[in-house]
Amino acid sequence: MRILIDMDGVLADFEGGFVKEFRKRYPQVPLVPAQGRSEFYIIRKYPHLEESVRQILNSEDFFLNLEAVPGSVEAVQEMTRLDGIEVFICSSPLDEYRHSVVEKYMWVENHLGREWIKKIILTKDKTIINADILIDDRPQVDGVVKEPNWEHVLYDQPYNHMITNKRRLTWNNWREVLLPSLAS
Ligand SMILES: [Mg+2]
Repeated sequence: MRILIDMDGVLADFEGGFVKEFRKRYPQVPLVPAQGRSEFYIIRKYPHLEESVRQILNSEDFFLNLEAVPGSVEAVQEMTRLDGIEVFICSSPLDEYRHSVVEKYMWVENHLGREWIKKIILTKDKTIINADILIDDRPQVDGVVKEPNWEHVLYDQPYNHMITNKRRLTWNNWREVLLPSLAS
């Protein structure tokens, strides 16, 4: 079974990194916490702050400094040791790629080790990648292939709770969710 794992909001704490940086730069401006947020794109939640949001996401070291989502690194390392599972990291860089592309590679090397950089797939269109499962926090993963051959399993986040027709997991319960798929 081949599993694709998204980075932002799944392996790397994108939301946490954004909030930390935003607080540092704009301590007076209120932020909508992820808990109460139904919008996936941070920028759409703060249209009046669009330029500030963009500056933070495009700034040097933003991706590099993201913390790992708790349990993510251990889960991925354990998953990859299981017989019959092949793991790849599948992430979409920002259109402003100057920092995000290289920093995603650096992040993987720093948190998972150098051998993992061979497992990175950076693409804006995940639907063209062949796999059995895609673990992704984005509510809807679209692209040129209308029916991708992977099953989208949501990484559970407050902003994807409106999706009710997909399986979901966290790094606490991934074994219970995924291992039955492996057995079948
Ligand atoms: Mg993501």
